[in-house]
Amino acid sequence: MPEIRNFCIIAHIDHGKSTLADRLLERTGAITEREMQEQILDDMDLERERGITIKSHAIKMDYERPNGEKVIFNLIDTPGHVDFAYEVSRALKACEGALLVVDAAQGVEAQTISTLYQAIDQDLEIVPVINKIDLPGADIEGVSQQIVDLIGCDHKDILQVSGKTGDGVDLLLEAVYELIPGPGREKDKPLKALIFDSIFNTYRGSIVYVRVMEGTLHKGEGIRFMATDKEYDAEEIGYLKLEKMKTDKLEAGEVGYVIGSVKSLQDARVGDTLTTTKNPAKEPIPGYQEVKPMVFSGIYPTDSDDFEDLRSALEKLQLNDASLSYQPETSKALGFGFRAGFLGLLHMEIVQERLDREFDIDIITTVPNVEYEVHKMEKSEVVKKIVDNPSEMPDPGKVEQVYEPYIKASIITPSEYIGPIMNLCQERRGNYINQLHMQSNRVEITYELPMAEVVFDFYDRLKSSTRGYASLDYEFLEYRKGDLVRLDILLNGDPVDALSSITHRDKAYDLGRKLCGKLKELIPQQQFEVAIQAAIGSRVIARDTIRAMRKDVTAKCYGGDISRKRKLLEKQKEGKKRMKNVGSVEVPQEAFLAVLSMD
Ligand code: GDP
Ligand code: MG
Repeated sequence: MPEIRNFCIIAHIDHGKSTLADRLLERTGAITEREMQEQILDDMDLERERGITIKSHAIKMDYERPNGEKVIFNLIDTPGHVDFAYEVSRALKACEGALLVVDAAQGVEAQTISTLYQAIDQDLEIVPVINKIDLPGADIEGVSQQIVDLIGCDHKDILQVSGKTGDGVDLLLEAVYELIPGPGREKDKPLKALIFDSIFNTYRGSIVYVRVMEGTLHKGEGIRFMATDKEYDAEEIGYLKLEKMKTDKLEAGEVGYVIGSVKSLQDARVGDTLTTTKNPAKEPIPGYQEVKPMVFSGIYPTDSDDFEDLRSALEKLQLNDASLSYQPETSKALGFGFRAGFLGLLHMEIVQERLDREFDIDIITTVPNVEYEVHKMEKSEVVKKIVDNPSEMPDPGKVEQVYEPYIKASIITPSEYIGPIMNLCQERRGNYINQLHMQSNRVEITYELPMAEVVFDFYDRLKSSTRGYASLDYEFLEYRKGDLVRLDILLNGDPVDALSSITHRDKAYDLGRKLCGKLKELIPQQQFEVAIQAAIGSRVIARDTIRAMRKDVTAKCYGGDISRKRKLLEKQKEGKKRMKNVGSVEVPQEAFLAVLSMD
């Protein structure tokens, strides 16, 4: 039996993880030059376009050492975004080691550090690697020092490579063998296989990616998912190369896939333990969690006839994205739609883009918000209520207390940007915790922040006020009391539920004024005057007016030129498609996201 090494790559986005992975695959012959397609691990269109790895994947390589010994390498790819931290933790658990890859010109970033700490917590062997040494701007000495400070290794232990030129890759492969311990191989115990990823296939059901921790799985055996107690048969099992390679058994230490006509990803969840029905394990592998959405938004079809299409699209998306949740809701303004829950803002954007791209459905989304815990009086009793839709926040008089989620944010930045970052965090109701000076003029600033203040445009603001240099990482802390109110928007006296938002009382006036101003810009003039008001409960706090106008788009056409006239009319129709009638007022889609586009 050849030895096995299971490892992953920890790197900040753009530090070259995918490129380096491609080189490893090439050198071990896992892919031929002909099959070589840049960045083979990012296999969804969307991922490739955005240059991010959303789902984790795994690939088996046959490494031949310089002495001719053959070793099996399993490279487990992990998602690179803070929204997917749980999936990252499960992928790490499937490994005995991690390559810590740092860009020679960029240095260590916050996201890398949190994943690195998770890996260290899970006792993974860390192999430090400086990548992109070919870059003219490479600062190998400075970055080495950062890595030494971070993990306490020796300067000489840091490998130097270029994923682009292939420099240092052979030494890196040998280091993976030498430094990372092999997995336990207790193949006679009851089966415990960790699910570190699963994808949905229309024809075959869920395809589950596993790392066998103990025991052996044979083809055809009865299997059980321990968290959901669902049972199936392991109809097909195998290894993951570029293609799936069938096999008869998977043993302790190995990585592979299992197919068993599993009807839904809900049954085969990341982090769950797979065992056999005949000789089941007593305890699952620890650490399983149900994923919990953090950010919510309404999703409505622009054309209400598309409601059923939207429902079936969401159903299909959920089949291969177990962390997406949704339920039907109705809005007076927008009609029938759904309230969807996401892991974070990136996840939300991905879902919206897929609805548009893969299902071609025009949707209106409402401003994202977090989930609040509201204590309200009902018949002189305090009742707890979870609110994930601003329009469901009770009126001010009825609310006893509102609790909102807080996060702990860690921001790493060159020290010249400390000022702007602290201003931003202060403005977002942050509590300063501390700052830690690191090597090379970098500082790690820690703040506690209301999550609601971060889901808006915090990340963009952070990037723009630091010329892109600062990086952000956060984790959920707890629910805390907040003086929060529901801010309503009224058009000609009618409240538009889809435009309500929840805000801190101190910010309500400013927000109300700005929202009215922005809506005045976004809502086109109508045939009658439109009053825009912002209100807290029955108290109006801001007001703007859109004057009436008789709209006649063909007026410019001086008669005669029919085709030009038609074009204009068609263009207006196009524009209309993305409008929604709210009462008698036509409101464009952008208006529902107005809060996001304010400075
Ligand atoms: P990932 O986001 O960590 O997967 O990073 P990618 O592998 O997608 O690389 C990000 C960018 O850096 C791409 O434009 C790559 O072409 C470039 N890149 C990756 N490795 C190297 C390297 O060793 N040298 C240079 N000069 N560029 C690299
Ligand atoms: Mg990548």
